[in-house]
Amino acid sequence: MRVMIVGKGKMGTRLAASAAEKGHAIVATVDRFNREAIGSLACDAVIDFSHPDNLAWVCDYVEQQCCIYLCGTTGLTQEQMERLKETAHTCPVFYSANFSYGVAVLTKLVEWLTPLLETDFDIEVVEAHHNQKQDAPSGTAKMLLEAIDPTHQYARVHQRDGFVGKRGREIGIHSIRGGTVAGEHSVLYLGDEEAIRLTHTASSRQIFVNGAWKALAFMEGKKPGFYTMQDMIGGIR
Ligand code: NAD
Repeated sequence: MRVMIVGKGKMGTRLAASAAEKGHAIVATVDRFNREAIGSLACDAVIDFSHPDNLAWVCDYVEQQCCIYLCGTTGLTQEQMERLKETAHTCPVFYSANFSYGVAVLTKLVEWLTPLLETDFDIEVVEAHHNQKQDAPSGTAKMLLEAIDPTHQYARVHQRDGFVGKRGREIGIHSIRGGTVAGEHSVLYLGDEEAIRLTHTASSRQIFVNGAWKALAFMEGKKPGFYTMQDMIGGIR
């Protein structure tokens, strides 16, 4: 496919460098500083790992091209997420806050496990990322929260501090930032004298790049709509 990469950071650079080996041609790599460059360029797919502030103009471009839009940018507001879903009415859109196949399976596992444990176990989510990450909690932690508590039955308590009193009907969310950690997510089920801890560790960003190419292959020929990793691993029960 002819692919346009949005974002010239760590992810954009890796994607651009690995496109040829996946059989794709890079039309351009753009960000907010050279977005005019896309004006007359045609492409089959846009892969966006950049910043939420780029979303509106990227959606405009995708709609104009009627191409595939693979978006991995995290920290989108609800409004921006709605804009993305609006684009999905006319173009095939794939969104995931985490393109790792392992995280997709963890999400499915958590969906399945929580109803079995939630009566007797307290649930906490812990995530760790490198010291350059700008948003917290991570998009993946939010995704795991939705899998744990899709109907928002629990209060979400961020980084407890001070005299907070006894634990209530809540899920605690904790963000650790430091060093070069590529991404670690744990869901803790803490019961009476027993605990289950599920942890996914990313060793490098390459897992997200691999997942993005896998998702692009999945999206080839798809009708307009909003697709996620759960659609891609749909066969897993
Ligand atoms: P990076 O900091 O290396 O690159 C960020 C890019 O966004 C750069 O091109 C920069 O110019 C641009 N940018 C920064 N501030 C901007 C602003 N205010 N307006 C417009 N553009 C701006 O980051 P990265 O590691 O390449 O990650 C990029 C995005 O992808 C982040 O949102 C990150 O959380 C997300 N990410 C998602 C996954 C996933 O699997 N979904 C994996 C890794 C990273």
